[in-house]
Amino acid sequence: MFKRTLYCSNCNREIRDGEEIFAKMKAPKHIIMVEIKAYLKKESEIFCTDCISKMI
Ligand SMILES: [Zn+2]
Repeated sequence: MFKRTLYCSNCNREIRDGEEIFAKMKAPKHIIMVEIKAYLKKESEIFCTDCISKMI
């Protein structure tokens, strides 16, 4: 689904291929499939497993 390189919003580490990630995002009012990628790019925060394990 994601083709762009992802970076953790907390530590800015590059997310490796196949690495498990956690995304925090606002629920969209209207979901239109063609806009999902743009929505995720604008509204989501991605966290790596290292940061999530520190937060929990
Ligand atoms: Zn991180």
